[in-house]
Amino acid sequence: MPAYGSGAMPTVWQPQDLHELSELRNRLQGRYCFTAGGTLLRTQWEGGLVASPEHLICLSELPGVSDIYAEEQQLVIGALTRLNSCEADTLVAQFPLLQEAIRVIAAPSIRNVATLGGNIVSGVGDTITALLVYDAQLCWMTDRGMEIRSLASWLSGGQDGRRNPEDVLVSIHLPMQDKDSLEVDMGHHSPHMKEISYYRKLGRRETFSASLVTVSIHGEIGVDGRWKRMAIAAGGGSGMAMRLPLCEQLLLDEVASVGQAAVLASMVMNEFVTYGDAFASERYRKQTAGNLLAAGLWEAMN
Ligand SMILES: Cc1cc2nc3c(=O)[nH]c(=O)nc-3n(C[C@H](O)[C@H](O)[C@H](O)COP(=O)(O)OP(=O)(O)OC[C@H]3O[C@@H](n4cnc5c(N)ncnc54)[C@H](O)[C@@H]3O)c2cc1C
Repeated sequence: MPAYGSGAMPTVWQPQDLHELSELRNRLQGRYCFTAGGTLLRTQWEGGLVASPEHLICLSELPGVSDIYAEEQQLVIGALTRLNSCEADTLVAQFPLLQEAIRVIAAPSIRNVATLGGNIVSGVGDTITALLVYDAQLCWMTDRGMEIRSLASWLSGGQDGRRNPEDVLVSIHLPMQDKDSLEVDMGHHSPHMKEISYYRKLGRRETFSASLVTVSIHGEIGVDGRWKRMAIAAGGGSGMAMRLPLCEQLLLDEVASVGQAAVLASMVMNEFVTYGDAFASERYRKQTAGNLLAAGLWEAMN
């Protein structure tokens, strides 16, 4: 099939509701590709990595898919919400790691067009580690109807073949916490729980660069000084992002202290599954993830 730029012109479809989308999917029998902002697809076509499809199904006209709202202790973000809208939204501000991850994606002009859903479905987007530590759930339109799956289980489905490329991501759901019980500023002694949030992206240059490694920590220290909750994730490059449950267990229920940083760094080296390429070896990626996460813990304790 001719690649983008060869003169081949895909037919573009803009379904106005989920019913029309479902009919289109059935009619086009896999000879299509979904598009949201098109920012990643464009680079793939231009680089000859992916052939231009016969049909493009543009998802942006579907009703409600760009809305952000709170519902039943969850923040719901429509999959077609643009990255810059997420970055500026006051409800999304309750999830600072997500906004921080978005701020270091590409340039403002790209974030104006690119969507959160596209970032997730790419499987390698820089928002994924942040969403993993917030226990994000994904709502999909499948051929069996609407289905909710955790982001973690969807990611692993890419490896064991359970992921269906014909599914449409409709919304992202983030469990909301009772913020009254939390003291976010680590600088204060407070009778409340303290929330620790840390996101870092390491690229080959400071800005406008694909990631080599991304890491996120989201934890809570109880009034007794012990970790009550701990979520840690690492990813980056074209590797699959993952939660690090052994690292989380290492800290959970222990007294929070700077001394844990070094142990965490070596545990990350053992647990984080990643890869090497021409830009960075597997060992470099593991060590960097360990060092970044240890630095995050150290920062939180100081
Ligand atoms: C110059 C440049 C710099 C970039 N820098 C970064 C960066 O630093 N970090 C980063 O993470 N990304 C980066 N990207 C990649 C890209 O911009 C982002 O991942 C973006 O969020 C993708 O969103 P999109 O809406 O443009 O996706 P699209 O390109 O429209 O789609 C991406 C993929 O997801 C599928 N898809 C999209 N939405 C859905 C849906 N709702 N349901 C099912 N499938 C769907 C598409 O079929 C396609 O396979 C960069 C891109 C460019 C061009």
